[in-house]
Amino acid sequence: MMRGLPAFAVLFVAAVARETFEGHQVLRIVPKDEVQLSLIKELEDMIHFELDFWRGVTGVATPVDVRVPIHRLQSVKIYLETQDIEYSIMIEDLQVMLDEEQEEMVSAARAPEPRNTDSFDYATYHTISEIYSFQDTLVAENPNLVSKIVIGQSYEGRPLNVLRFSTGGTNRPAIWIDTGIHSREWVTQASGTWFAKKIVTDYGRDPALTVILNNMDIFLETVTNPDGYSYTHTTNRLWRKTRKPNPRSRCVGVDPNRNWDAGFGGPGASNNPCSETYRGPRPNSESEVRSIVDFVRSHGNIKAFISIHSYSQLLLYPFGYTRTPVRDRAELHSLAQKAITDLASLYGTHYRFGSIITTIYQASGGSIDWTYEQGIKYSY
Ligand SMILES: [Zn+2]
Repeated sequence: MMRGLPAFAVLFVAAVARETFEGHQVLRIVPKDEVQLSLIKELEDMIHFELDFWRGVTGVATPVDVRVPIHRLQSVKIYLETQDIEYSIMIEDLQVMLDEEQEEMVSAARAPEPRNTDSFDYATYHTISEIYSFQDTLVAENPNLVSKIVIGQSYEGRPLNVLRFSTGGTNRPAIWIDTGIHSREWVTQASGTWFAKKIVTDYGRDPALTVILNNMDIFLETVTNPDGYSYTHTTNRLWRKTRKPNPRSRCVGVDPNRNWDAGFGGPGASNNPCSETYRGPRPNSESEVRSIVDFVRSHGNIKAFISIHSYSQLLLYPFGYTRTPVRDRAELHSLAQKAITDLASLYGTHYRFGSIITTIYQASGGSIDWTYEQGIKYSY
């Protein structure tokens, strides 16, 4: 028994050690013509380069951001230079940046525990337990407006919490918002937390929100991929997928935004469990997805479904899996245009908009394609 202990200890350390990204660079690559565009697309399929696309390949003159591991930097740069493809180094050493982020979180955590949602620090990132206790506090503070529903459990057994904002009625038409389906997109879970506070603060003050809540419910799932989110804090800051092991593969997890039953298995998702866009063995194989599917079906009166990702400044509507335009294309397009125009009037923020497939790239098995096909017209 005793002799087994040191080996166990080593394993344990290995299991909890944080993945490091020392020397990894993020390159910004700009294809100048169709030839370069297809050469960069080919890079996506070169698994041996181990590239991690932060901003995917879309079109000529649109930047592509990609993380390159230190041991692949030289060969990737040679590939680009040989083809005369322009690039710049957007992040010199990713680990330096992650250390800074960690340091900010550590200093924020030194502040006393927030006693209420007014003293909660909305400007820093929080762990899953901090977000979950924020949710409970918000419910306790606003019992007539907010309640918490647990729509299921993650693979590792964490609750899938949804906040329901409702001023009464039964089965009113509803708006769904989810953040954090891709766990590493931390600014989205942080935004979702802020949305929750914003909704309770503005009800009764902001006329538009007040009218909405007097007639509709809002459902908000802040940590849509809790296992992945927890893993980004403990082990790998850049974890995107779920944490369910894949049989007969050393690679873990499914891309929960390729796992929905809309064009499942088509182009724009991978059948390789080691890919960041692995679709999973079958539609809804991930309980994090299945739980939303069941909730949406049983509710039956959801009118808008908004799924938040980072990073980009894009307002996108279906489809992602097919070039066939949605029936409501004209309406969804002009609504998106109005939304981004209104947004720009506030802060000058510039968003592009359009269908997923025409604006960014083909993606199959995505959430909003499925919700649109379920009859939720305003799927963004
Ligand atoms: Zn995402």
